[in-house]
Amino acid sequence: MSKAHFGLIGLGVMGENLVLNAERNGFSSVVFNRTYSKTQEFLNGRGAGKSITGARDLQEFVDKLERPRRILMMIKAGPSTDAVIDQISPYLLEGDLLIDGGNSEFRDTERRVSSLESKSFGYIGMGVSGGAKGALEGPSMMPGGTKASYEAVESLLCKMAAQVEDGPCVTYIGPGGSGHFVKTVHNGIEYGIEQILAEAYDLMKRVAGMNGDEISNVFEFWNKTEELCSYLVEITAACMRQKDEINGGDLVEKIMDKAGQKGTGLWTVISALELGASVPTIYASLNGRVMSSMKSQRINAEKILSRPLIKPFDLGSKSDGMSPLMDAVILATIASYAQGMELMRIASDEYNYNLNMPSIAQIWKGGCIIRSRLLRRIQNAFDNDPRLPNLLLDPWFAEQVNRRLPNLTKVVAGAANAGIPIPCLSSTLDYINSYRTSRLPQNLVQAMRDCFGSHTYERVDIKGTFHTDWI
Ligand code: NAP
Repeated sequence: MSKAHFGLIGLGVMGENLVLNAERNGFSSVVFNRTYSKTQEFLNGRGAGKSITGARDLQEFVDKLERPRRILMMIKAGPSTDAVIDQISPYLLEGDLLIDGGNSEFRDTERRVSSLESKSFGYIGMGVSGGAKGALEGPSMMPGGTKASYEAVESLLCKMAAQVEDGPCVTYIGPGGSGHFVKTVHNGIEYGIEQILAEAYDLMKRVAGMNGDEISNVFEFWNKTEELCSYLVEITAACMRQKDEINGGDLVEKIMDKAGQKGTGLWTVISALELGASVPTIYASLNGRVMSSMKSQRINAEKILSRPLIKPFDLGSKSDGMSPLMDAVILATIASYAQGMELMRIASDEYNYNLNMPSIAQIWKGGCIIRSRLLRRIQNAFDNDPRLPNLLLDPWFAEQVNRRLPNLTKVVAGAANAGIPIPCLSSTLDYINSYRTSRLPQNLVQAMRDCFGSHTYERVDIKGTFHTDWI
């Protein structure tokens, strides 16, 4: 019997769909799952009649694969990944390649790449985005490791990836844990955009009194614009239109307002803090989830801390797509991308990843959760200047900021008067205002630090380091 081209470990939602994708693209496959009943279920179900076989144990799995072996792990990140690496390593030979496609922490991947590359087989840490549908039809993939390892699987990944007008949504990201780092930042941007769209929904509901269908119409309108056309806006329109089959009404209103924040969103913010990158819009989305999880406290606090009556303010009209609100959403979305791209640029220097910013924007244009038309503009901006310090300085984005900022300011002021929290929109306004201010009040912070701790300070008028005996 001829041997399979491709091996997959882990038949969860992602693994199942990715192996069907590989097989559809001409790569006969063998699958292994810790719980064998799932393998049987898959082979008798979605995998039936396809060039996919199963293995009961890892010996059988590797025996069924042609050499050099190409194996993708799609399993729970963390200790489970280390456990599977330990189990499979003894079976791997020179030239074989192991890919971790889970959401691993990039430092774990750094450690694994350096320890496993000293063995004879190759190791790739690869971010995969697109959810179940993307995994089946074509995801966006962010592989990191050695260039030689990437080249060994390039043709497979290029066929499996989503395709956009300028190529497949996969490219060599860089060494070590860079692939998982880029996926982490991708997810941080995703957190930001999800929260921004949730804030827009809240304002349309509570200030303008709109129902699910009316709000859905606005998101559909936004999805037809260059600035907001995106997968997340598209699915938000669908979520808003969904009715509750159990009790009637808009299903969104029946869903508990608590969201988790473990993993990649948290890691994005931790990395930004460690690297000194400013990501307030992304952080605000993470904190929004933290606040949301404090449900019982919020119920109690609402009774104790008085709130203003909601005073209506101008969000725009349904016929013009809620124009001021749309401006606010566009700028916060741009800010999420700008902060993520800047974090990657700083990390690239710090970790010697040599990230290619236009290529990263290119592979996010299809397949992934943050795919959007805006990414074409982002790609152009970094094509024009690969060392662009911040997306907001690119002429097209600067014009967006200058034109739309008055409306973001109005929306933030109106929401503040109405007592409605809009953490991402308001932190975006502070972000832009800080970034466009050449002199910030940190001179006084420096004075205080020198006063209590003799931390010294620099002056704007004379070179050198100074200390004052403050009175
Ligand atoms: P998942 O629920 O995260 O993982 C399920 C798979 O992991 C199952 O095959 C399970 O085997 C296996 N597994 C768990 N612990 C194991 C262990 N100690 N040893 C061996 N196998 C173990 O499934 P998923 O949603 O498909 O995600 C897979 C990976 O992709 C995760 O790292 C996830 O974060 C990442 N990811 C997910 C998405 C998404 O949209 N779901 C998108 C991108 C990336 P059993 O059947 O035996 O339990």
